[in-house]
Amino acid sequence: MSERENVYDVLVVGSANADLTVRVDRRPVAGETVLGTDLVESAGGKGANQAAAAARLGARTALLAKVGDDAFGELLLDGQRAAGTDVRHVRVEKGARTGTAMIVVGPDGDNTIVVSPGANARLSPADVAEAREAVAASAVVSLQLEIPPETVRAAVAVARETGARVVLNPSPAPSELAPGLLAAADPLVVNEHEARQLSGLAGGGPEDWARALRERGARSVVVTLGGDGALVLDAGPAAGRTTASGAGPGAGPATDEAVRVPGVRVEAVDTTGAGDAFTGALAARLARGASLAGAARYAVRVGAASVTRPGAQPSYPTEEELPDGPG
Ligand code: ATP
Repeated sequence: MSERENVYDVLVVGSANADLTVRVDRRPVAGETVLGTDLVESAGGKGANQAAAAARLGARTALLAKVGDDAFGELLLDGQRAAGTDVRHVRVEKGARTGTAMIVVGPDGDNTIVVSPGANARLSPADVAEAREAVAASAVVSLQLEIPPETVRAAVAVARETGARVVLNPSPAPSELAPGLLAAADPLVVNEHEARQLSGLAGGGPEDWARALRERGARSVVVTLGGDGALVLDAGPAAGRTTASGAGPGAGPATDEAVRVPGVRVEAVDTTGAGDAFTGALAARLARGASLAGAARYAVRVGAASVTRPGAQPSYPTEEELPDGPG
């Protein structure tokens, strides 16, 4: 394994959205108007959330994203700066609107969401090419699917050329994932819904879905299980992985055993963005040399901490705020 001198632990290539949330006592039916609570604006989008999560934990983090030259773009940039993310690769597109998620929360706590992609749809392979040096200078490149697919493919291609590890969170879940993307994922990070859908299996459980996804080409797979933690299926012996001697807790010879990481019992007040907190933390820990199981143990604690506070980015913990403290 060649020595890399990385400027960033984590480079997130992804979306940035303003989340506009209103709560209602009753959902309107088609053609109806109902009154809701005051509007709450907050910074969101899977890319921006994962970058904020990694940066809050102290990882050297950069975000490659696109926002419009409007007030929501400023909101997103302020959120990243507050978390400690390097925003020099966040492009501000003149005349474009920042991506927006219009979220209606019903009395049962369930969300209905309409996303207007705005500037996210304009993040292009050319933007990736321009940021090539940042990709090359990153230990981990973290990707989701809220930006154009050709841009995701371009980022994966540069990451592979330059030796950065790719963490892929295929969300929102497509009906099928391109084989090239699956093969680059180390790991593929999926929730139960995404795992089942992408595995192509009608039945079974998280371990079956993880194994099916690995058979389809993913090098390693992490399935998040809400309050029940996560399941980790590392690269199998067939993948020929060797473990770097400096690797973190849990490192050892590759085995084909799935590892169950138990959840952390907390009082959950709002699970919005928990999956992004998990993935940002996982990427941060992998960048520092942890094993996949060790990184998942850490990410489960970060995800649990995030559900004890409202919102997505505002709920993300620093190391000191983790259950059982830093480490
Ligand atoms: P979301 O869409 O809400 O962002 P997700 O469906 O992508 O989440 P989950 O599997 O629900 O992802 O949660 C991700 C991680 O967050 C879990 O692995 C766990 O660490 C933490 N988590 C989520 N819900 C709870 C909970 N109720 N109690 C403790 N931890 C939780």
